[in-house]
Amino acid sequence: MDLCAIKDVLFPGLNIELKRLIVEPQLAVLEAAACGRPPRCPECGDRGRRVHSTYWRGIAELPLAGTKLLVRLRVRRFFCEQNRCERRTFVEQVEGLSERRRRSSVRLMRWLRSIATELGGRAGERLCRKLSLADGRTSLLKLLEAPNVPDRAPRVLGVDEFAFRRGRRYGTILIDVETAHVVDVLPDRTSETFATWLTTHPGAEIICRDRASAYTKAVKEAAPDALEIADRWHLLQNLSAAVEKTCHQHRPCLKKHAERVSERPIQMPLLDALPTTRIVQRVLHHHAEVTRMVAAGYPLSDIARRLNLDRKTVRRYRDTSLDQLLDSARDRRPEQLDTFKPYLQQQFAAGVTCGRTLFQQIRERGFRGGYSTLTAYLRTLACRHGPVRTYRDPEPAPDHRMDHAESRPPQRK
Ligand SMILES: [Zn+2]
Repeated sequence: MDLCAIKDVLFPGLNIELKRLIVEPQLAVLEAAACGRPPRCPECGDRGRRVHSTYWRGIAELPLAGTKLLVRLRVRRFFCEQNRCERRTFVEQVEGLSERRRRSSVRLMRWLRSIATELGGRAGERLCRKLSLADGRTSLLKLLEAPNVPDRAPRVLGVDEFAFRRGRRYGTILIDVETAHVVDVLPDRTSETFATWLTTHPGAEIICRDRASAYTKAVKEAAPDALEIADRWHLLQNLSAAVEKTCHQHRPCLKKHAERVSERPIQMPLLDALPTTRIVQRVLHHHAEVTRMVAAGYPLSDIARRLNLDRKTVRRYRDTSLDQLLDSARDRRPEQLDTFKPYLQQQFAAGVTCGRTLFQQIRERGFRGGYSTLTAYLRTLACRHGPVRTYRDPEPAPDHRMDHAESRPPQRK
């Protein structure tokens, strides 16, 4: 096997000499010896001249066509011959391959660090297993390095809070808005901490922040010349909250207006006059429970767990009025027809018994159920009032085969 060719492909430009390649089913071992110029002493900078000893190191490399690759690297230990230097010996490193106290190659480290950055511990560990990279959750997380914090704040600095643990502990994240990179992370969200940071990192000309008062206070103290602006996300969020609140407060008059516009001839029953269905009962129960637990100070996730609901659902129960909740519960009720029964009875008594006409009338008034739901009910009315004229009875279209159409629901054309 031509080891030189292998070296040119796998380790181009590296100061090593390949000695042997051993290929086993699960593992390929490549033996190599470091052969570069003697290194300099890391303490005094004096170049090593005399070899003290050699030894073998195992360095995991990127997998080779799916097979794990281990480089057994022979390295030299040199004497430091400077009398004034405290260090007696030092070991050479192969640039681009080995690092001090690391058992993975430089390239493998780069991969693992990217995986840890993108996926974090658990998901990273799972991916590593699939890629034949043996690395655990903890060692992946250890590879994550905090970015270097610049001495000066960026020109446009974004500041916002974030949760280490929602509802318990919050920190502050600082961002360079122009490059969209994180600049620093502060351990809490107090104005003092942020003010100290601004003092030690001057240079922010514009500060984008949310509308919390803590950050404003810090900016006024520590960077009075900076222009403060509320960021777009928080503006939109505040705006939508305000719109929602206003709509909610004016719900009765909005509803009246909507009714006047649609000129509904029949009055929908009041919400509290709704027939009690399972869904309505469930809504009432959940609303009462959520309200009680929120008042008692339970965190959202706790409530969700106790009631076996999704957190979003709990939040909806917390933030929505009972009226609205019941309103949407009514929309989902299968027996929506109940709402229209008084109207149907009235029409029936007045002689309007044609199923098709009645179906159209209640559709226009908001009925969302099917035709068969209506005819089933009309049949019960017919027992009291007389025969029902179903959809196909009055003026049959030429293509309708009347003989079989009696009790079938209308077909879509
Ligand atoms: Zn030295």
